[in-house]
Amino acid sequence: MRVLLIEDDPMIGQGLSKALAVEGMSVDWVRNGADASGALADGAHSIILLDLGLPDAEGFDLLKAARRNGLNAPVLVITARDGLDDRVSGLDIGADDYLVKPFELRELLARMRAVLRRHQGRATSRIISGESELDPETHELSHRNIVQVLPAREYALMHALMERPGRILSRAQIEERIYGWGEEVESNAVDVLIHSIRQKFGKDIVFNVRGAGWMSPKSRS
Ligand code: CA
Repeated sequence: MRVLLIEDDPMIGQGLSKALAVEGMSVDWVRNGADASGALADGAHSIILLDLGLPDAEGFDLLKAARRNGLNAPVLVITARDGLDDRVSGLDIGADDYLVKPFELRELLARMRAVLRRHQGRATSRIISGESELDPETHELSHRNIVQVLPAREYALMHALMERPGRILSRAQIEERIYGWGEEVESNAVDVLIHSIRQKFGKDIVFNVRGAGWMSPKSRS
């Protein structure tokens, strides 16, 4: 899952980038309004974490403009401003949730899961596809009678496929979802991850559609 982090504070930015990477997310971090506008227009992110006070822009203005331009992804505001007016106008402008700094990482992760769940119209965080079930909280994947905790990239890959059961993702689409900007991606990286997942859960955990890509089967085979 690709996350856009808009935050000018280097300590918080670095800390969050690292912590979210450990959770298997690929984080694109921008530190000013100009870069943020470009990244928001890009539309490649599953969720956006938005700081309000940026050196060259107001987070609220960015959010307003992005929603006007059709940004659909959920936006979680992270800010030191805890005034009621700020919170209310943030939610009214199109933020999905509002978290006041300083916050615990655990709470941020839980709120991210909740926001994504609402956004995708699911009642629980667990993602179910065919005979597979993925838990975003523990990164545990169960398939038939096998249960294992996935390493970060394998989790990210399965999350991307299982979010859209029965739909094919090409190699480029998978890479875009699980690697951030400027990350070196080996040409066979996706194959290596799929191979490893199949070794643990069996070949039919992921279907290969020759020449097109991979998918997570929708129903029991
Ligand atoms: Ca700031």
